[in-house]
Amino acid sequence: MDWDAEKVSRSELEDRSIELFREAVRRVKRTMPFYQERLKDIDADQIRTIDDIAQVPTTNKADLRSQAYQSALGVPLKDIMELHASSGTTGSAVVTGYTANDLKLWRTAMKRVLLRAGVHRGDLVHNAYGYGLFTGGLGFHYAALETGVTVLPISGGQTQRQVTMLRELQATVLTCTPSYAQHISEVMKQMGMSKEDLNLRVGIFGAEAWSQQMCDEIERELGITALDVYGLAEIIGPGVASECAEGHKGLHVSEDLFHFEVIDPETGKPVPDGTLGELVLTSIRREASPVVRYRTGDITRVIPGSCACGRTTRRMDHIQGRVDDMFTLRGVNLFPRDVESALLEMDALAPVYQLVLDRHQALDVLEVHVEPRETEAEREALATAVQRRLNEVLGVSVMVAVMDPQSIPRSEGKAVRVVDRRKLSYSR
Ligand SMILES: [Zn+2]
Repeated sequence: MDWDAEKVSRSELEDRSIELFREAVRRVKRTMPFYQERLKDIDADQIRTIDDIAQVPTTNKADLRSQAYQSALGVPLKDIMELHASSGTTGSAVVTGYTANDLKLWRTAMKRVLLRAGVHRGDLVHNAYGYGLFTGGLGFHYAALETGVTVLPISGGQTQRQVTMLRELQATVLTCTPSYAQHISEVMKQMGMSKEDLNLRVGIFGAEAWSQQMCDEIERELGITALDVYGLAEIIGPGVASECAEGHKGLHVSEDLFHFEVIDPETGKPVPDGTLGELVLTSIRREASPVVRYRTGDITRVIPGSCACGRTTRRMDHIQGRVDDMFTLRGVNLFPRDVESALLEMDALAPVYQLVLDRHQALDVLEVHVEPRETEAEREALATAVQRRLNEVLGVSVMVAVMDPQSIPRSEGKAVRVVDRRKLSYSR
């Protein structure tokens, strides 16, 4: 099932996916009061094409929170083997259950993550994802067991000990969040070690949106190939999609296990391949806690064309940000991350910035506030260079203001990156 499912023809994969979607609709209407109501006008037998699927009402996080946890399981508690809960960073946690078959499904999806990364028997996985309610730790643990690979269940924290273990056990694979991988490499240097003291070959990092610059830095500092993995507890945990080592450009979605779409977050209509939109997922094979057309809030795009590795499953791009972070400038959708990666490349700038959106004579204007790293910097020339770079990267012209050093507000917690003055003028 593992590799074969990723090399069947596109039409076979699509037919199978629609058939499974249809079955999933029948199942949730039968077992879950929420979907009996939400999908009451949907006749599963009439779902025959991708366009038919796009007519099915979506589900969001508030819908999941509105249901009592036992009725949201969709199966009796006696059939549940394991419960997890989402992190709840933007509200109360959502509990999700797994039957024995669901755990098998998860292991299959996670085994593919390791296979795509070229991990095999004889490898040692240093699993620094947190074990517990968060699905990262156990997800990768199951992946190793399913693949027959040795796993060190070290979990997160105690970074000096992590580095010592990495050196002593000579693990070949590192799994954790990208920011933790970065921290591990910092601590490694503080302890007087370099990547040559370790034996890492590949890292599989997820649960955060990270830029290409960060990927390059981790690869350089740890001497590895750094691959992206995507998933969420509401669907299965990690394992919905991951990058292959051969292509290393976008994440293959296990389309025979999860149905995915990218829609315009405003209109709810599907967007063409290559266009950014919101990722919508359906857990077409899950028995417990199934969701139909779940709006993830994550922004990505389908990468057109086929991958060098020969897998036929489509690839989604790295997550660009959350729907809530997106802003629109003269019809172009942008994320702070887009601006950030362009600015971080410029050595003359301090690593702080602020984006001010305003309206001048009915025209939207983005002013990017930056600071020079050196006090004596030639500001006018710097502003011109930054402006040229941003116009090139963003595809829309912006204004740049080079501020005094240390004048942009620093943040102790979540930085305020975007100030939207246009919203103020609407309310007047
Ligand atoms: Zn590939």
